[in-house]
Amino acid sequence: MSIGATWAGTHTFEAAGLIEATSIDQVQDLLTTTDGPVRALGTRHSFNDLADTAGTLVTVTGIPANPVLDERARTVTVGAGIRYGVLAAWLHERGWALHNMGSLPHISVGGAIATGTHGSGVTNGCLSDAVAALTYVGARGAVRTMSRGQEGFTALPVGLGAFGIVVRVTLDIQPAYTVRQDVYRGLPWAALLDDLSGVMSAGYSVSAFTTWDEDTVQQVWRKSRVGEGEAPGPDWLGSRLELPEESGLVDADPAALTVRGGVEGPWLERLPHFRLDHTPSNGDEIQTEYFVALEDGADALVAVRAMAADIAPHLLVTELRTLAADDLWLSGAYGRDTLAIHFTWRNRPAEVAALTPRIEEALAPFGARPHWGKVHTMTADAVAAAHPMLGQARLLFDALDVDGRFANAHLRRLGVRS
Ligand SMILES: Cc1cc2nc3c(=O)[nH]c(=O)nc-3n(C[C@H](O)[C@H](O)[C@H](O)COP(=O)(O)OP(=O)(O)OC[C@H]3O[C@@H](n4cnc5c(N)ncnc54)[C@H](O)[C@@H]3O)c2cc1C
Repeated sequence: MSIGATWAGTHTFEAAGLIEATSIDQVQDLLTTTDGPVRALGTRHSFNDLADTAGTLVTVTGIPANPVLDERARTVTVGAGIRYGVLAAWLHERGWALHNMGSLPHISVGGAIATGTHGSGVTNGCLSDAVAALTYVGARGAVRTMSRGQEGFTALPVGLGAFGIVVRVTLDIQPAYTVRQDVYRGLPWAALLDDLSGVMSAGYSVSAFTTWDEDTVQQVWRKSRVGEGEAPGPDWLGSRLELPEESGLVDADPAALTVRGGVEGPWLERLPHFRLDHTPSNGDEIQTEYFVALEDGADALVAVRAMAADIAPHLLVTELRTLAADDLWLSGAYGRDTLAIHFTWRNRPAEVAALTPRIEEALAPFGARPHWGKVHTMTADAVAAAHPMLGQARLLFDALDVDGRFANAHLRRLGVRS
């Protein structure tokens, strides 16, 4: 049976089979009645072979989500296979919200948290940082729930599928809020580099888009919570508000983007860049992303920008975002406020493969960490040097799964499993 490929077609799965579970019992059955390797598959939005296995893939996206709201604890507990956009709509109808969302609302909660998926905002942790508890089926079929505060918990939210199949997740929530999105064009590079933290703090969630070779930063998207701080004005640090007829971002269909132009709207319709009701085509692109400490961010940008002429011809766009520091062992923002430097490449695998090691070399002095779900060429040694808790995470995952059922070639290559 052909399992097919990742969303962008960047990896064709080699697994022997795919089980689309419709109940937690079915996941347990798989792990108790068979003894080969098993890996969880989410909505296939990663770009590499992280999810793959020589054995069986199992997806929990078909298990009923059955959301349970706990208003006193300010949490929602939900099936891990639900897509963020669907959960967001369910919460909003009841007056609740998530702290943040990634750019695309079509991605599963279980898969997104497993790789430390993030939005932006200097005070916003990655999506995994909102995980208050998770329930998983372990290597021998036992169901176990681990909650924030329990020993070893901080290894699990960004767990790369390395210790079990996560079936339910409890997420922190907060009262629903209103957001406006204002897009500024032509921010001088000097303004960004002189005060990177200030620029990236200019809203609840700020993203800067560049192709590196322009004189000014192409677009800065300021997503502000209405009623918090001052509303963005027309002039800002030498940039200007975009005109209505300018709306668009590189190759993206403007109709696919969430509403901009300072129009106030619900959080779930402003925090993602793409609309849930717009079906994204199969992506003709490759993505790469690295995390550096925000305090090193300006120097890291200068180092990458020295390669602008080589990068730009193969790039659709770079997006710069921020993440608040967290304590999740394998998070890109573990222990440090972070700048995320993202590249959406044209679908040119050979050129991307040639450029990524050069970018990694330029970012090595800053202890850059790769996004686990995107394309990179970092070695186990380089990843271990950037991720202080990697060795401890490996020990824990190996202990939870002594037969290596949830290990695969990707995790072994990077030293996440032995
Ligand atoms: C168009 C696009 C936009 C994106 N935007 C962002 C963004 O804004 N920010 C960002 O940080 N990333 C972004 N990404 C990357 C994406 O969020 C991550 O790759 C994410 O992990 C994909 O989730 P998924 O459900 O597709 O998981 P998959 O890609 O299917 O799997 C990823 C990993 O999660 C594990 N996994 C999946 N489900 C479970 C489960 N139930 N239990 C245990 N492990 C599980 C898998 O084993 C695998 O290791 C984007 C990707 C695309 C294609």
